[in-house]
Amino acid sequence: MTLLMFDTSAPPWRQAMAASITAPDDLSQTLPVDVQGLTRVAQAYPMRITPHFLALIREHDGPIGKQVIPHPDELSGQSLLPDPLCEESQSPVPGLIHRYPHHALFQVENQCAVYCRHCLRKRKVGGMKAVSTDLIEQGIEYIKARPEIREVVLSGGDPLVMEDSRLMLILEKLRAINHVKTLRIHTRVPGALPQRITQDLAKSLASLHPLYMNIQFNHPLEITSESEEACRILADRGIPLGCQTVLLKGVNDDGKVLRQLLEELLRIRVRPYYLHQLDRVRGAAHFHVPISQGVAFMQGLRGRIPGTAIPNYVVDLPGGGGKAPLPESIVGHEGNTVLIRNFEGKVFRYEKGD
Ligand SMILES: *Cc1c(COP(=O)(O)O)cnc(C)c1O
Ligand code: SF4
Repeated sequence: MTLLMFDTSAPPWRQAMAASITAPDDLSQTLPVDVQGLTRVAQAYPMRITPHFLALIREHDGPIGKQVIPHPDELSGQSLLPDPLCEESQSPVPGLIHRYPHHALFQVENQCAVYCRHCLRKRKVGGMKAVSTDLIEQGIEYIKARPEIREVVLSGGDPLVMEDSRLMLILEKLRAINHVKTLRIHTRVPGALPQRITQDLAKSLASLHPLYMNIQFNHPLEITSESEEACRILADRGIPLGCQTVLLKGVNDDGKVLRQLLEELLRIRVRPYYLHQLDRVRGAAHFHVPISQGVAFMQGLRGRIPGTAIPNYVVDLPGGGGKAPLPESIVGHEGNTVLIRNFEGKVFRYEKGD
C-alpha cells in the first residue's frame, strides 16, 4: 500500500484512511494526551485511528480510547515475548502460519485500519513494507502442495485494507485450489472503517462462497449505525459473520458490558464466535484479565442472553499449541502458571501474571 494523500476522487474509505490520525500530536488538539511520551510509544508500535473510530472516543482512557491510543505501559513488561505463540517458527513461508494440520492462517497484509494496542502481532503490524507478491505466491504454492489444508484464513494486518483487485486476486487463486473447501477473512474493518464495505466488495466476496468472515468488536460503542450497515451489506450477500472479541481490562471486563456487546452483535447478525483470553505478548500486559475472571464472566452468560450470543472462551497457547477452550482445558495450576491441555493432549503453561 502506498502512502495516502487527500484525493477527493479516491473512494470514501481511502479518504478516511488518509484522514486517520497516525501521530499523538494530532490527538492533542482534541484529547489531553502527553504528546512526547506517547510519541515514543508510537515509534515502537504504530498508531492509526480512523475518523470513524475517533468519533467514538469520549475519553482518552475510556473503552474505545484505550484500544487505539498508545500508552506508556506498552514499553514496560519487557520480560514477555514479542511472539509468545511462536508464529514465526510455525511459518513454513514467512506470513503463512501452519499450526493446525487442516487449516492455515495467511497474513497477506501488514497494515490495519486501526492499530489495536493489545494486538497479538504488534511486533510486526504497521510496517511500511508491503507483503511482497512473491511471498504471497510462495504461500499459495505451499497451500497448493498440501491437500490436507481444507481452510485458509486470511489475516494480517487486516486483509480488507487491500484494494479490491489485489484481495480478489489472492482469494481467486485460493478458490481455484480444489482441496481448499472454505475461505475465511479475519478483519476489524466493519467496525473501524465501515465505508470500506461497499456493495461491490461484498458482491465480489460472495462470488467465492463458501466464504466466512470473523470481525473483531470489543465494546458495544463500536456498534454504530455505520458498522451495522456494513454488516448488513455482508450478511445480505450470504457471508456468515462471526465475532472475535478480546477480553480487555478497562474495555470489556465487566459482565454487563459483555452481555450488552454480545446481544448487540446478535442483533446486527454477527454471531459471537470467540472470547479471547489476552495473549501474553510484550507491550499488552496492561490489558491482562485473569482467566478466573473470564470464566466467571462466561458463567454469567448462560440463561441471561440467548445461547446463539454465547461465544467460546479460548486461550491461544504460548508455545504454539493452538487454541484451547476455557475452563475445560485446564488440567492444573503450578505456582503462577495455569496448565492447559491442547487438542493433541499436550500440556502448555500460561502465566497467570496477576
Ligand atoms: C486462530 C488460528 C486459526 C483459526 O482457528 P479456529 O479455531 O479455526 O478459528 C488458524 N491458524 C492459526 C495459526 C490461528 O492462530
Ligand atoms: S486489526 Fe487485528 S492485526 Fe490489526 S492491530 Fe488490530 S488486532 Fe492487530
